[in-house]
Amino acid sequence: MPAQATAYRGRFAPSPTGPLHLGSLIAALASFLDARQHGGTWLVRMEDIDPPREEPGAAQRILNSLEAHGLIADETVLYQSSRSDAYQSALDTLFADGLLFSCDCTRASTGPNGSCCGRCRERQASVSTPCALRVNVPAEYTVSFPDRLQGLQSEALGKSLSDFVVKRKDGLDAYQLAVVVDDGDQGITHIVRGCDLLDSTPRQILLQELLGYATPRYCHLPVITTRDGQKFSKQNHAPPLNDSLATENLRLALRFLQQLEPPAELQQPDPLLRYAIEHWSLQQVPAQASVAAATLGLDA
Ligand code: GLU
Repeated sequence: MPAQATAYRGRFAPSPTGPLHLGSLIAALASFLDARQHGGTWLVRMEDIDPPREEPGAAQRILNSLEAHGLIADETVLYQSSRSDAYQSALDTLFADGLLFSCDCTRASTGPNGSCCGRCRERQASVSTPCALRVNVPAEYTVSFPDRLQGLQSEALGKSLSDFVVKRKDGLDAYQLAVVVDDGDQGITHIVRGCDLLDSTPRQILLQELLGYATPRYCHLPVITTRDGQKFSKQNHAPPLNDSLATENLRLALRFLQQLEPPAELQQPDPLLRYAIEHWSLQQVPAQASVAAATLGLDA
């Protein structure tokens, strides 16, 4: 029997640490255009599982901004803060399979790349609380995946990282686990996001394999950087988008993605997006890790 084609399901998954800025609009727009051009479904997931880093009101502000730019999800927005049972059951599965260990390392005592100091595994009975839960990375584990933009990616993950956190010491769910469980449960087939998350992908693929989820197709876009090479973010004061300039913002994001310039008479987000869907070409997007905002004439 021929394999059944799986319908395209994509998503944009912002963390509500601040308002939408040009960098996040680029990721939202590219994931939207790619989904639409494939006749797929596009979802928005609010990754609100890290209250200490969040800004009050940012989640709603992001959703309003997306709407002002014509980027409207096809299904109800999923809030990660409502998903703790699902994350717990994934942890239970990993625990039952003997893949987790408790770790009370402090920031100062962790090993390379934030891994455990290496001694917690042998002293499980005396690990103090609060403690983190970490998943073991098998020493021989390697990951290869074809990134749709950046080409073949390979990492000997077991050599670069012995373990990583799936439940934080402060009791919060860890991004790596939550993103895998949600992408899996939401049936996401295609992930289009910034290159700042490229080094998380091998860990996420390992968790997908351990939890029995299919691995989506990945596409990592260049991130937009300031003059001194910093990624646009709240921390380096990326200006929030002005929603009343939605069409101009979308044009700027399309220029960053090196897409065909929409005709000047398209002055509203919806017709502009229709044009951009029709002409969306991933081949035009620079296959680079970053592009400076200055190349768009922006003073950042
Ligand atoms: N919430 C993450 C962020 O805003 C993105 C997660 C993802 O796209 O996988 O950086």
